Amino acid sequence: MQKGKIGVSTENIFPIIKKFLYSDHEIFLRELVSNAVDATQKLKTLVGTGECKQELGDLTIRVSVDKEKKTITVSDAGVGMTQDEVEKYINQIAFSGAEEFLDKFKDQSVQIIGHFGMGFYSSFMVSSSVEVVTKSWKDAPAVRWECDGSPEYTIEDTTRERRGTDIILHVADDSEEFLEESRISALLNKYCKFMPIEIAFGKKKE
Ligand code: ADP
Ligand code: MG
Repeated sequence: MQKGKIGVSTENIFPIIKKFLYSDHEIFLRELVSNAVDATQKLKTLVGTGECKQELGDLTIRVSVDKEKKTITVSDAGVGMTQDEVEKYINQIAFSGAEEFLDKFKDQSVQIIGHFGMGFYSSFMVSSSVEVVTKSWKDAPAVRWECDGSPEYTIEDTTRERRGTDIILHVADDSEEFLEESRISALLNKYCKFMPIEIAFGKKKE
């Protein structure tokens, strides 16, 4: 396992963003599902052009809630990420613009999120920690990244049979409303109804 430090000077950006974005916590789900859709669309393009010779298989995006473990998981069978890509796209993009963003837009609406590549980061609004388990369509080991919202994260090799990504949110005590199935289905209805990839919601099998 390797440990690293995300490049921001703020010790813990998580409570800050949480405060600013208080009223719109629910958008985390839209952001994560959009990322899953993007990853799936990229995969379809790669297969379409012949660059990726794998079968598409079942591309359904699966959202599940585990009330006992207090987790919400969003899984896709999209392009996935290599370790380098996780370091580049998750560490850098998710955190680098955060301080600047907060300075500039603290009075404005959260709608701006997403335009600044902070989509993934919004998952920290409802989570005490976030795990990413991902396997690239390329021939590379699966990786697991975890971060509790402080600039410290861990990254290590793991196993995941199929190509794709699981984003696992460990839901914070003050956000337990999102562990209610009715809340998640309502959000999927509100934000994710017209997305171009099928989305399934179900309880995680025991
Ligand atoms: P944006 O979607 O605007 O690029 P995000 O913060 O939402 O910004 O995501 C940052 C990056 O992390 C994405 O551009 C993508 O490269 C990577 N990423 C996030 N979620 C996934 C996923 N489910 N599968 C593959 N890559 C992902
Ligand atoms: Mg996004």
